[in-house]
Amino acid sequence: MAPVRVVVVGAGVVGLSTAVCISEALPSCSVTLVADRFSPDTTSDGAAGIVLPAEFPDIPLERQRRWFKDSFDHLLEIAQSQHSPDAGVILSSGFRRAGGLVEKRKVNSLQELSHFDLIVNCSGLGSRTLVGDTHVYPVRGQVLKVEAPWLKHFIRDGDGKTYIYPGVHGVTLGGTRQEGDWRLQVDRGEAESILERSSRLEPSLTKAKVLGEWVGLRPGRRNLKVEREAVYLQGRWVPVVHNYGHGGFGVTLAWGTALDALGLVRQCLNEKPQQAKL
Ligand SMILES: Cc1cc2nc3c(=O)[nH]c(=O)nc-3n(C[C@H](O)[C@H](O)[C@H](O)COP(=O)(O)OP(=O)(O)OC[C@H]3O[C@@H](n4cnc5c(N)ncnc54)[C@H](O)[C@@H]3O)c2cc1C
Repeated sequence: MAPVRVVVVGAGVVGLSTAVCISEALPSCSVTLVADRFSPDTTSDGAAGIVLPAEFPDIPLERQRRWFKDSFDHLLEIAQSQHSPDAGVILSSGFRRAGGLVEKRKVNSLQELSHFDLIVNCSGLGSRTLVGDTHVYPVRGQVLKVEAPWLKHFIRDGDGKTYIYPGVHGVTLGGTRQEGDWRLQVDRGEAESILERSSRLEPSLTKAKVLGEWVGLRPGRRNLKVEREAVYLQGRWVPVVHNYGHGGFGVTLAWGTALDALGLVRQCLNEKPQQAKL
């Protein structure tokens, strides 16, 4: 039997996790990952990688707890394995090992994907234009990477605006949370403010060498969206599973929402094509 052609749009932590979940669980599917940006150029690459509890106001708490727990257990397993420094690499090599295909290009409209049997949308902030979701908005975040190997513990101030997160490749100092701000260039004044605020929390940082500066746009949304629908493309209904809008919690929740997206993909495949409208 011909494989079911599934396309996942987006190669950030959400798209990669979803593509891996589908490829591993559904060998009858051929999964293609399409994105205009891959690692190390996605928002996910710059995230500090801290697991923080999120709260989305209109999503049942039970569902949110499951996303968190599934993701936490998965991340803990990676952290305790010998591959922990290469967690991101594991995700993409895991996808390729499971037979996944990769295409680097921008998708301007879902119409371009009409030759697939099922579309999974993990385009993050890109969903604003790709599927016209005006509820998704940028939450700009600027950080600095510094060399301070003597720091072993993280520090976060009360409102979470200033933080010091030691990681494998340096220490991340942050940050900013600017809703609706699309600027991707580094702001000098903000960089100085971050350094000044974090040095007040940890004075030894005045000795640290700055390794780099980075700006990312979190895919903000009042409620993260993991839902399915059907879209009429080139004369037929094609099921679309959405998984985007993780805001500042993409690393924290990606695996859990990927498992939910996998469940929705299964539902779509178990239905007859003409019923896929629901
Ligand atoms: C400064 C900062 C610090 C952060 N720290 C943390 C943290 O400590 N913990 C945490 O959990 N989260 C953190 N986050 C949030 C986290 O980075 C995001 O939630 C996460 O990256 C979202 O992942 P994503 O895969 O949805 O989006 P992205 O990583 O942005 O990936 C989107 C993908 O979709 C593709 N795409 C979009 N539109 C199209 C299109 N039309 N055609 C083709 N491809 C398309 C892009 O090319 C890209 O591959 C932080 C964010 C920032 C900015």
